[in-house]
Amino acid sequence: SSTCRLSTSTLAEEPISPSVHINYTNHLINGQFVESASGKRFPALDPRNGDVIAHVAEGDAEDIDRAVAAARNAFDEGPWPKMTPYHNDELAALETWNNGKPYEQAAKLELPYVIRLLHYYAGWADKIHGLTVPADGNYHHQILHEPIGVAGQIIPWNFPLVMFAWKIGPALACGNTVVLKTAEQTPLTALYAAKLLHEAGLPPGVLNVVSGYGPTAGAALASHMEVDKLAFTGSTETGKIVLELAARSNLKPVTLELGGKSPMIVCEDADTDQAGQCCSAGSRTFVHEKIYDEFLEKAKARAMKRTVGDPFKSGIEQGPQIDSEQFEKILRYIQFGIDSNAILECGGDRLGSKGYYIKPTIFSNVEDNMLIATDEIFGPVQTILKFKDLDEVIQRANRTKYGLAAGIFSHNVDTINTLSRALRAGTIWVNCYNVIDAAVPFGGYRMSGQGREKGVYSLMNYLQVKAVVTPLKNPAWL
Ligand code: NAD
Repeated sequence: SSTCRLSTSTLAEEPISPSVHINYTNHLINGQFVESASGKRFPALDPRNGDVIAHVAEGDAEDIDRAVAAARNAFDEGPWPKMTPYHNDELAALETWNNGKPYEQAAKLELPYVIRLLHYYAGWADKIHGLTVPADGNYHHQILHEPIGVAGQIIPWNFPLVMFAWKIGPALACGNTVVLKTAEQTPLTALYAAKLLHEAGLPPGVLNVVSGYGPTAGAALASHMEVDKLAFTGSTETGKIVLELAARSNLKPVTLELGGKSPMIVCEDADTDQAGQCCSAGSRTFVHEKIYDEFLEKAKARAMKRTVGDPFKSGIEQGPQIDSEQFEKILRYIQFGIDSNAILECGGDRLGSKGYYIKPTIFSNVEDNMLIATDEIFGPVQTILKFKDLDEVIQRANRTKYGLAAGIFSHNVDTINTLSRALRAGTIWVNCYNVIDAAVPFGGYRMSGQGREKGVYSLMNYLQVKAVVTPLKNPAWL
């Protein structure tokens, strides 16, 4: 019969020895394994044959007393009952304190995204596998996907924790070990998060976080002979340096996430209220001539309403720039804009006299070749350019060395299809902006980067591929 029956033959054989050692037989009290107060032990049995497999410490009232006293003390005096379950508040506060981004943004948008990223890649850890390929029928071709080794990772200051998660998630999920160098401006949150990962059980050495400067710590990592892969996020200029260091040392493969000067195209049928909401996001905003004046007014009104101030204050949309270097650089670009006869519609200078606050700034009448339209400013400066037709705007939007992202505002499906295919950028947002997800690849065309991060695309950056070819002797079907 085909019913499933337990084979009796195996029961007669010697029991199979399990591949596990019994290491822990004492009570775990107050973080320590301890003997019973009485010194007594009792047997643990293998039910297959009644054999004694261990002698376990036998507790009685005295041991219970010790355990309860430890729990009582940990509850009354220790941090546990007062600890927040997720460390969200501490991490968000530290991020705002060190980076200047609005606390509400760090706590409500970025922390949940970091958690989502790590969950997403944790989910991949047991789903990474190779292939078999039916190439020549006389051979069995296995394609193994192996971890690549030690991953060196260098991140910038603009999203310290998001970049940390974005980098370590796929590297660890693929079985690599990591040395990550944070940006010198923002070392604090990655250290905190790495400590939490160790508390959660990450073995020592698997994730190492080094704080330090680019030309010293960063360059040493990029050129290290024992680093098998390099992932870098930062400026295009530094990207070229690390690529060269990687090439000159051991030709380690490099992925680069670099700068951008993303165009946002607001078509004549666009909802200008919706597009206006994103005034600070797309740094080159091309607006159709028919709605140019209306858009400009709305963008200006929106920028002037934007709340700038102490990032810990509720309702703040924009905090200070990261440091005096960025602050001075942005003010220099604003001056270039004024000197090149673009019209300064609002903002244009610092806010207050202390800290690195810059007023939301809008330039109109911007021409393609002005420095404010070609260079990455990396500050709250929007440049508004006028266009007439689609062919023209495609040409102009693509005339840049970058290709990170682009935005399209239109309700015409043909316009959207044409633009989304013609624009040379790694992400195209349609009637939205800056929408990112752990599962969706991100990266740049041209000098905005090499390779893609996030989603399934990130995994291949951290895997080595090995083909194993074996002859098939007497295949079953021959
Ligand atoms: P940056 O290039 O100055 O620094 C980035 C990192 O590189 C830092 O950790 C820095 O210490 C390190 N570094 C600097 N010099 C180095 C060297 N010689 N060798 C090795 N490492 C070195 O960039 P930044 O100012 O911190 O960040 C802003 C830039 O990052 C912008 O250009 C922005 O567009 C880019 N960025 C890109 C993405 C993306 O996904 N494409 C995301 C965030 C930021």
